Amino acid sequence: MTLHDTRTGQIRELVPETAGRVRIYVCGPTVYSRVHVGNARPFVVFSLLKRFLTHEGFEVEFVANITDINDKIYVAARQSGVPSEALAEQMTAAYKADTSVFGLGRPDYEPLASETIDEIVRLIEELVEGGHAYAADGDVYFSVRSYPRYGELSHRHIDQMDQGEDIEGAARKRDPLDFALWKAHKATEDTFWDSPWGPGRPGWHIECSAMAEKLLGVGFEIHGGGSDLIFPHHENEAAQTRAARNEDLTRLWVHVGLLRLDSEKMSKSIGNVFMLGDALERHGPETLLMYFVGAHYHQPMEYDEDRLEEARARAAGIRNTARALVDGPSPEWSAPLKERFFDALANDFNTPKALAVLAEWGREANRSGPGTVGGADLREMLDILGLASLMESLAEPVSDEVARLRDAREQARRDRDWAEADRLRDELRALGWEVRDGPDGPELLPAA
Ligand SMILES: [Zn+2]
Repeated sequence: MTLHDTRTGQIRELVPETAGRVRIYVCGPTVYSRVHVGNARPFVVFSLLKRFLTHEGFEVEFVANITDINDKIYVAARQSGVPSEALAEQMTAAYKADTSVFGLGRPDYEPLASETIDEIVRLIEELVEGGHAYAADGDVYFSVRSYPRYGELSHRHIDQMDQGEDIEGAARKRDPLDFALWKAHKATEDTFWDSPWGPGRPGWHIECSAMAEKLLGVGFEIHGGGSDLIFPHHENEAAQTRAARNEDLTRLWVHVGLLRLDSEKMSKSIGNVFMLGDALERHGPETLLMYFVGAHYHQPMEYDEDRLEEARARAAGIRNTARALVDGPSPEWSAPLKERFFDALANDFNTPKALAVLAEWGREANRSGPGTVGGADLREMLDILGLASLMESLAEPVSDEVARLRDAREQARRDRDWAEADRLRDELRALGWEVRDGPDGPELLPAA
């Protein structure tokens, strides 16, 4: 298995510390608002990577943290007049609810910064003792120049290293390059914790170093996240852990490209439907999953109506093929295609290449005629992409009342009356039916 490693800029072999065991840490959202579609891309990519590695026989531990202590949360909470803890809790629940709609399950651990304070404080103490950090008026800063390998991950020149921190700590920093590990309590912040430097709260970067080490140790196999996090967040995570432990935080740094939201195109064709919850409601999980796997994880991708329509059509094409399949083993022509599918994923997790093989599989199956081809291989491939649901039987007889509610909800959706659509969804649920928005429109499944 190979993956693109940001530190070396090369496609590198995944070599686990312990044969057969892969540990993955991915930076999750800062929970100050509902997440947008772009935030879901790392969640989807690494959830699917875990599926693939598991399929290949690896034992995988997948940690995706939740940043629930952060400047953005204090600011947003103040603006809406709610306690920051309540806002973070509410947005954490919303993030989990939204991303669960993909049907990919949850990461093995989803640690919160607020549950990791003891480990964070200990790590900062060790950095201070080792001469890599210093206290100043209740703050603690990492001394960037004490760490000669700083900049190794992001390949930046020193004059491009703006930490993006407010000017508030500027007077206390020995060097403008330094960044905060601990911030003294401010009257405007409604949560704080005790520390050897007085009451305060951790900086963002040290939270991740501590959460990752607590659950996975150091020197784990893959650290992932959006490419917007390479600097300063990941550069700082790498520096802190290496400075404290004299060991690298991770073996591979794997970054996921950002979504490009063309605001002009957006307003013309998608409206403002880029919040994840709204996008899932409108397009359904299968179309969105198909959209995400349509591009290589490392590349940026456009988020617009054309790409979504392509994804919907691809999913609908597979569903059509699947309808004509019979249960049981796949025909002889299938095995080499399946092998190419898995090879594409093993080679830098090339999902677009895998999709091309899947399309070839579909053409072969369609040529063979309905009722003649077994679907076992197709199911195995789709399962890695989280799309095995495209093979589920859809023909469920429903009562007139349920059909009426389904149609009314679809009309409400078309009218963009989301409140009414949600109300009808709840009514259907009460009658024992789950509505799932698929590539062919809404479908009813018996509620679990
Ligand atoms: Zn992080």
